[in-house]
Amino acid sequence: RSDMKIALVHNQTPETLSVAAKFKEMCLSEKIEIITDHPDLVVSIGGDGTLLSAFHKYEEQLNHVRFVGIHTGHLGFYTDWRTYELPELVESLKHDKGESVSYPLLDVRVKYADEEEETRYIALNEASLKKMDGTMVCDIYVKDELFETFRGDGLCVSTPTGSTGFSKSLGGAVIHPRTEAIQLTEMASVNNRIYRTLSSPMIIAKDEWIVIYPHKEDRLILSVDHLTFKKRSIERLVYRIAQERVHFARYRHTHFWDRVEDAFIGVKKNDRNERTKER
Ligand code: NAP
Ligand code: MN
Repeated sequence: RSDMKIALVHNQTPETLSVAAKFKEMCLSEKIEIITDHPDLVVSIGGDGTLLSAFHKYEEQLNHVRFVGIHTGHLGFYTDWRTYELPELVESLKHDKGESVSYPLLDVRVKYADEEEETRYIALNEASLKKMDGTMVCDIYVKDELFETFRGDGLCVSTPTGSTGFSKSLGGAVIHPRTEAIQLTEMASVNNRIYRTLSSPMIIAKDEWIVIYPHKEDRLILSVDHLTFKKRSIERLVYRIAQERVHFARYRHTHFWDRVEDAFIGVKKNDRNERTKER
C-alpha cells in the first residue's frame, strides 16, 4: 500500500539511533509516510522492552494498529527483524496486504481504596503485584469461588506472549501464543499449617477470571509490563483475557518453538545433532 502511514518508536542506544535514521531515510525515498497520531503500522526499533513501550503508546488504537519489531542487540520475542534486513522490510511495507497475526492480552481492573471507579489496565506481558516490606496477604478467587489465601512476596498474571518474560523466571510454563489463556504464578509463597497455596503455576481458561482481594492494610506495588505504579492500597483486582487482541504485521513466519529454543537453549541444531550422535 502506497498510502500506508507508519509510526516509529525506538530506544536511544547509538546502534538504534543509526538504524532509525537509516529506516526513516528509506521510508522517505519510498514515499512511505512517517507520522505519530493515527498510524496503520507501528515500527519498534530496540528490544522487547521498546516494543512494550510502543504497545502502551498506542494501546487505545489496538483495533486498527499493527506492530512490527526490529531488534538491535539480541533477538527478542516481539522483535524478529534484524537491522541488516531493512531493505526486505521496506519492500514488505510497500507491498503490504494487511498480513497479520494476533495474540491475547490481559485485562486488569483495579479498585483502589481511595477511588470510586475501577481503573482499567491492559498488559501485553503481565501484571504483577508485590509488597517490598514484609509479606503480602490476599484471598484469591477463581470466578466467584474462594480458591486460596496467599501469603508471600507477590503474584504475577501473564499472557501467553508474556510467558517467556517475568512469568518464566517465576517458574511459569511457556505457553504457545495461539492458546487463549492467562497464567497465575506465585513469588515465594509461605506454606505451613496456617497458609497453604497451590504452589504451582495455574493456567485458567478463556471464560474464567481471577479475583485478588489484598488484605486491607497492604500497600502494594502494581506493575503492568514495564510500567510500575506507586504503592497504593488496593481493594480488589480482576484479571481476565481482554476483548482486544494485539496485531503484529506478519510478512513472514517464525515458528514459536524455534524462537523459544533460540532464546533459552541456544545451541545450534547441528551441534546438538552431533552430540546426540556421540551418545
Ligand atoms: P528489562 O528489565 O529490560 O527486561 C527484562 C528482560 O526481559 C529483558 O531482557 C527483556 O528483553 C526481556 N523481555 C521482555 N519481554 C519479554 C518476553 N515477552 N519474553 C521474553 N523476554 C522478555 O525491562 P523491559 O525491557 O522494560 O521489559 C519489561 C519486562 O521485563 C516485563 O514485562 C517482564 O516480563 C520482564 N521482567 C522480568 C523479570 C525477571 O525475569 N525477573 C523481572 C522484571 C521484569 P529486551 O532486553 O529485549 O528488552
Ligand atoms: Mn529491556
